[in-house]
Amino acid sequence: MRLAAVLSCIAPLFILPVCSQTVYTGDILSGHKVISRLDVDDLPYNSYTKLWLRMTLNQIGQSYHVPIIVAKGHCDGKRLLLSTGIHGDELNGIRVVQRVLKDIDTSTLQGVVVGIPQSNVNAMYAGRREFVSHFETGVLTNINRRFPGNSTARLAPDRYVSILWNNVHNVNNFDSVVDFHTQTSNYKFPNFVYADFRVPYVQTMAELTGADVIKIDDGSSALGSVEVVNDASGRPSITYELGSPLLWQKDQIQRAYDYTFRLMANLTMYPANSDSGVVSEFEAYRSKSFYGNAFDFTNINTGGFVERYVDLLDVVHKGQVVGAIFNVFGDKLKDLTNSVDGVVTSIGTSPLLSASDYIINTIYFSNDTKCQYGGC
Ligand SMILES: [Zn+2]
Repeated sequence: MRLAAVLSCIAPLFILPVCSQTVYTGDILSGHKVISRLDVDDLPYNSYTKLWLRMTLNQIGQSYHVPIIVAKGHCDGKRLLLSTGIHGDELNGIRVVQRVLKDIDTSTLQGVVVGIPQSNVNAMYAGRREFVSHFETGVLTNINRRFPGNSTARLAPDRYVSILWNNVHNVNNFDSVVDFHTQTSNYKFPNFVYADFRVPYVQTMAELTGADVIKIDDGSSALGSVEVVNDASGRPSITYELGSPLLWQKDQIQRAYDYTFRLMANLTMYPANSDSGVVSEFEAYRSKSFYGNAFDFTNINTGGFVERYVDLLDVVHKGQVVGAIFNVFGDKLKDLTNSVDGVVTSIGTSPLLSASDYIINTIYFSNDTKCQYGGC
């Protein structure tokens, strides 16, 4: 990538002897050290480090290990955490974190970037959104509602989350956190951001994405998420949704990759990318970003087979027929109409739906005061 003027900082002339807070278990796994706690302070400047974070034991007595990548610059600066893989069927963010960390030049970087390319190892094994507990007949847990976790809880996912939180997220003085997701299985998103504009710096983080859709969101429907709990802990955070599940979509990955370097430049961690193609593409996307603060789900109240007549980012209107539901013999049961004017920000991909599933989610901007910060 082409870089603009190089940032300058004073490289540390000497390193004061400090007590290491990173806890090494003494084990080596696939050539990389295993830790139970990360403290980036005791990693060397101008270094690139791959580690495994030891997690809970699974039902056959073996530990899950979460991969951690640390790029530490040649001098101190801001600290950025890149999280992904919280849901096991959401894969685009993995490639973003891998590529960003690999391409950072640590001799240019000021500060530290920590990447967690696969947070929920259990769910990735299962190929699904939730953490699977082998408890009774099995319990499915969305760990993005369980932060900061609980080390003494009955169920494994709460303990698992507490290890991530207490040994990486909450102990390294991060200045900013981006949690990459996608839509879940059988649905798809555009390039889409959840952001709580009441938190200082979050609006800037969101605007720098140039996402197709930005949901101004107070987090009330996502308590216990990486974003909401980091926001509440003084670390501005966004949830960045990158399209569809179970895929590596090159366009979504590239947009998030370019975004991350833009964010690093805004945080004065890295020189801005001056490549005219990248800059003009961002400006084009940003000029079209749709900002909304309210959702409207077009639900079906019966099960059946759905045909959809709209797609992502289509502008839809109140009363518009957006789909129809059929029975197994192909008889149309009813047309499905939208109840607001807005933009399609999520849509199902399977024709088979159960009662209460939604076929599209429309985002719009509401002037109702209760929706002001996106609690609608
Ligand atoms: Zn997710």
